[in-house]
Amino acid sequence: MDALRQNATHEVANQATPLEGTNFFDADLALQEALEREGGGWALDRARDTGAVAGSPEAQEHGRRAERNEPRLVTHDRYGNRVDRVDLDPSWHWLLRGAVEREIHALPWRDPRPGAHVARATLMSLWSQANAGVMCPVSMTYSAIPALRRDPELAAEWEPRLTLPDYDRGALCGMAMTEKQGGSDVRANTTRAEPAGDGLYEITGHKWFCSAPMCDAFLVLAQLPAGLTCFVVEPGPGFEIQRLKDKLGTRSLPSSEVEFRGVAARRLGEEGRGVATIIEMVTHTRLDCVIGSAAGMRRGVAEAVNHARGRSAFGALLAEQPLMANVLADLAIESEAATATALRLARAYDEEDNSLRRFATAALKYWVCKRATPHAAEALECLGGNGYVEESPMPQLLRDAPLNGIWEGSGNVMSLDVLRAMAREPEGLPAFLAECELARGGDARLDAHLDALPAMLSDLAGDDAQWLARRAVEDLAVAFQASLLVRNAPPAVADAFCAGRLGESRGRAFGTLPRGVDGAAIVERALAA
Ligand SMILES: Cc1cc2nc3c(=O)[nH]c(=O)nc-3n(C[C@H](O)[C@H](O)[C@H](O)COP(=O)(O)OP(=O)(O)OC[C@H]3O[C@@H](n4cnc5c(N)ncnc54)[C@H](O)[C@@H]3O)c2cc1C
Repeated sequence: MDALRQNATHEVANQATPLEGTNFFDADLALQEALEREGGGWALDRARDTGAVAGSPEAQEHGRRAERNEPRLVTHDRYGNRVDRVDLDPSWHWLLRGAVEREIHALPWRDPRPGAHVARATLMSLWSQANAGVMCPVSMTYSAIPALRRDPELAAEWEPRLTLPDYDRGALCGMAMTEKQGGSDVRANTTRAEPAGDGLYEITGHKWFCSAPMCDAFLVLAQLPAGLTCFVVEPGPGFEIQRLKDKLGTRSLPSSEVEFRGVAARRLGEEGRGVATIIEMVTHTRLDCVIGSAAGMRRGVAEAVNHARGRSAFGALLAEQPLMANVLADLAIESEAATATALRLARAYDEEDNSLRRFATAALKYWVCKRATPHAAEALECLGGNGYVEESPMPQLLRDAPLNGIWEGSGNVMSLDVLRAMAREPEGLPAFLAECELARGGDARLDAHLDALPAMLSDLAGDDAQWLARRAVEDLAVAFQASLLVRNAPPAVADAFCAGRLGESRGRAFGTLPRGVDGAAIVERALAA
């Protein structure tokens, strides 16, 4: 016996083993089934490879290291010249390179076959579980392409670089809309553009949030006489990074404040139509907020179930004790609903008929992102004190969780967007409701919920529509999720979701599923061995 062991006062016992080394795709039956169902089955091998690498000890260590060794802003060189550079840890580059080489930033644009957005959503969901921070520039680059395509010349110049699955030779794109005086209300932007000849403009002003400022290009909103207009800006003279934000989560990701001092820009889209131009980018990043939130919930469930299977208290494994099984099952159905939602929504981006896309994105971004934070908190609690320490992945999961709910439209803004879509896009709500109705007859509780929707929606025609909006969007989103699960999930999952989320008997905290739910079957499915 060596000296250390001689001095040991006890044997370490009853601690769970870490989840590392698990193939995140193989372990996730809900994701596997959704990939196949929504038309991305051809990407099975890629998903399996990505799940294996994302769950490997190497990737997990890179994820931890990138969060620990935070980005550092270097504004000037040693001689006092401005350089505006962000130094990033090698682990950041490893993770971002991995995402780019797997085409998570570009797959549907490079290979636009049916199911490409679904396949990409699956890869994104898996790689997010290695590190959520790197997915920000990945998402923005993916989302910039549809906006850039509004200008064939700019698209011809940028698309080949932005879609290259080569981290060294390709390019990344960010966005800069938010200003100090207003983020949701971008019409309040004061940054202005002036024509500079030869189709170029000079932009002067600032942006209060500009993530991944080391990107090669940015879509920027600025004022022209005709109104808010979209521009493509390349960092260069006049593009100054003021400081990096000290953020709650996604600490691996540099988010900056930038100053524009006459930086050169090219106009994208019509003068005065900036919001209409950039909305294509915004809609795709909102899809990614749903995927990212679903990925976080999935990781939380996997960690919670893994812990509860490896830890006993009061003489029995936690996972086998009824109250913990209720909590785990409740977390699992929320996660499965989010996964099914994310991939169904991604399919709406594959479909030519886009009547569902915008409405569903607004409603589902609201709800799936809204669920992520309480879900992460409850999953953390399943690990007890071990979940509260930084060596476990849970604190980071909890810190990262609120971001998708804020970025690209916070809860109220998404609810208002649903109201706006109902008023201005007459085909959106009917397409959404038709999708919900596909499960009609499959569960009496869902039928009753669907029957109640028209009255709730007609209430929204009154003066107090905004006051009622969150509740209405929640009811719509839950109907969509229940419909997906009733049609596609195993009966135990669909039954638990309808029992726990519909009707007046539903609980409030996680772990309040009613009697009769098959918790053991749900927990068994939640983390495949
Ligand atoms: C980590 C991080 C990274 C980011 N990266 C970028 C980036 O790269 N580029 C970029 O442009 N932006 C970025 N943002 C900014 C982000 O998109 C904004 O913070 C967001 O849009 C909200 O804008 P705001 O902060 O100005 O809040 P506000 O617009 O002031 O909103 C504050 C609150 O008021 C609510 N609200 C607003 N309007 C209404 C209304 N009419 N009725 C009721 N409630 C309302 C909102 O829902 C919110 O809860 C980032 C933010 C974060 C946190």
